[in-house]
Amino acid sequence: MSIDILISEVGPRDGLQSVRSIMPLEAKKAWIAAEAAAGVTEIEVGSFVPAKILPQLADTAEVVAFARTIPGLTVAALVPNLKGAEAAVAAGAHKITLPLSASEAHSLKNLRRTHAQVLEEVRGIVSLIEGLPADRRPRFEGGLSTAFGCTLEGDVPADKVVQLAGQLMAAGCDEVGLSDTTGYANPAQVKGLVRRVRAEVGEHALSGLHLHNTRGLGLANVMAGLEVGITTFDSSLGGLGGCPFAPGASGNIVTEDLVFMLEAMGLRTGIDLPRLIEVRRILAEALPGEALYGFTPEAGLPLGFVPATREANFA
Ligand code: ZN
Repeated sequence: MSIDILISEVGPRDGLQSVRSIMPLEAKKAWIAAEAAAGVTEIEVGSFVPAKILPQLADTAEVVAFARTIPGLTVAALVPNLKGAEAAVAAGAHKITLPLSASEAHSLKNLRRTHAQVLEEVRGIVSLIEGLPADRRPRFEGGLSTAFGCTLEGDVPADKVVQLAGQLMAAGCDEVGLSDTTGYANPAQVKGLVRRVRAEVGEHALSGLHLHNTRGLGLANVMAGLEVGITTFDSSLGGLGGCPFAPGASGNIVTEDLVFMLEAMGLRTGIDLPRLIEVRRILAEALPGEALYGFTPEAGLPLGFVPATREANFA
């Protein structure tokens, strides 16, 4: 079935890295399988960082291996450096994202590397990928984090983001993404930055936004992204998530609310919303005491609501 907007579920990575509890491997598998069964076609299942930094994600290789067995699912993983990329390739990830903090202070704190050092890692990863047989090459995204502002540096100049986007593409990334790691973005800024980055790297090199709901503007920022032609949005089931290295930043956009908004607007996501909402039960059971967010799951679907995805199926 064709879709209008791709929702990339990042809860198993962004969500789990920010909660104290460690979700058992079996629960992660059940979560990923259940979301895929509800129609989610891309899931960022983990991050290849040392277990001593993020013990919550220590089993990422096993999670990738499992997720690869689900037909039609794009299995994405985050990598902090070349070593992480080697592990991701060995595990068989379809897509890898390396975060480059537009704020250099954040980059030093998060990856302990300057911009120049991160770009060097990017070039190493590109060589690694180019050395693989064509059918084993993952898609490689440079994710510009803190693109809309930083809890350490404050304002991040758009010029800096545009320059780094160009450098990531020149280093050999397939695409770049913009991340509001800190929840600082506003809709006008989203439109402006997307337009400026696209003017630098081309329309097809920027298709996705990673937005947080820290200040309640997550869905407003999605609307701004839609208006300038963004077609992929990251979100997290139950709004689990945040950045452990950016104080005060918590909560991705809630996948359930995002699907509701898009489907209500007539945009097909391919996701069965009632089935997606059911998946929250797996999270509630595996992460007792962790807060789950979302207005749509709490309020229920409006009476007579017909999602765009189902209309398309009936047509
Ligand atoms: Zn995030």
